[in-house]
Amino acid sequence: MTMEEKLMKKLSSGSLDFEAYFSEKALEMKASEIRELLKLVEAGDVISLAGGLPAPETFPVETIKKIAVEVLEKHADKALQYGTTKGFTPLRLALANWMEKRYGIPTSKVEIMMVAGSQQALDLIGRVFINPGDIVVVEGPTYLAALNAFKYYGPEFISIPMDHDGMRIDLLEEKLEELRKQGKKVKFVYTVSTFQNPAGVTMSLERRKRLIELAREYDFIIVEDSPYAELRYSGEPIPPIKHFDDEGRVIYLGTFSKILAPGFRLGWIAAHPHFIRKMEIAKQAVDLCANTLSQVIAWKYVEDGYLDEHIPEIIEFYRPRRDAMLEALEEFMPEGVEWTKPDGGMFIWVVLPEGIDTKLMAEKAISRGVAYVPGEAFFAHREVKNTMRLNFTYVPEETIREGVKRLGEVIREELEALKG
Ligand SMILES: *Cc1c(COP(=O)(O)O)cnc(C)c1O
Repeated sequence: MTMEEKLMKKLSSGSLDFEAYFSEKALEMKASEIRELLKLVEAGDVISLAGGLPAPETFPVETIKKIAVEVLEKHADKALQYGTTKGFTPLRLALANWMEKRYGIPTSKVEIMMVAGSQQALDLIGRVFINPGDIVVVEGPTYLAALNAFKYYGPEFISIPMDHDGMRIDLLEEKLEELRKQGKKVKFVYTVSTFQNPAGVTMSLERRKRLIELAREYDFIIVEDSPYAELRYSGEPIPPIKHFDDEGRVIYLGTFSKILAPGFRLGWIAAHPHFIRKMEIAKQAVDLCANTLSQVIAWKYVEDGYLDEHIPEIIEFYRPRRDAMLEALEEFMPEGVEWTKPDGGMFIWVVLPEGIDTKLMAEKAISRGVAYVPGEAFFAHREVKNTMRLNFTYVPEETIREGVKRLGEVIREELEALKG
């Protein structure tokens, strides 16, 4: 029993039937398996390649300190007050300009609403777009927290496999055609288009363009979740899908979590004003407005050019860690194991030979001093068992190397056992 369970038991023995009061929806909710797994890791001397956290060394503490003082001296009236639901206007304008400059998305074409992290955007999208039974297309694998956010609203997920160029748009097209024959339609396609979490892959330029064409042809919208695009360690930048959108079909999600600090709890939605308006009304009921102090500090961070200065520093910090993991995989993984070679982001996706169940293997790996996230939970229908996600941003190069070495040994033994 975990500490938490013991406490719950102690508190509930001989008293109310607490469960009886929950709504049906609440009874369906489950804790994220990853968080549960990470609790085990905290306990011992385990190298964790399981987390999804940015490295705290990349947080621009001195800059934030300086800006925070300035904000409190000059803008306390705004920074400590309630704000409008859409967000602090100077920040929204600064972000619109920044997106125009970096991604070629004309400011005239989008409206921006600030949210409490992209996670809130995912929930608002669920509220505003999903009727029970609506078809939502996701990547296989996809971002677990998005599945959980959408699930609450009762969609039917369709999972489209990926390869090294992201979502297999040819398979999506087949699926769309099949659905059309049944008189069915997709409500939206959710994609983490660049340096995907968990797979680390990026949707190719051709596929981005084709996806937009399909959206028009089959009349669906696209949710483009893009927290990692700025963290590119090699290769040439590719414009976001939103760049190719001239109808307003793409809802773009940005966040400060990976380019400033997740503790700000600040992200943004860039979309057609009509879509923003409805999400704004939904957000009013949720939390009135995003954290104003965070917003005013983030405004200075963008407006005064700190963001553009800081991004290359994060890249320089993470690149050697990515390289270290790729090298270690090359050196320590047994034959038959494959992995992605991401140009950016925070994750590498590992595919083991069929027959190995990474969820069953996880406990053994932890007992041998290394943790990863079993891939199963990243699939909408848990259809794949032999994959895992590795994070390379949180621990230093030497530790990554040792972690991958331990992992290689565990996998080798599993393979032997499978043969034997
Ligand atoms: C980290 C991450 C986010 C960011 O979420 P926040 O709520 O903004 O911290 C969004 N989407 C994906 C796929 C992520 O990996």
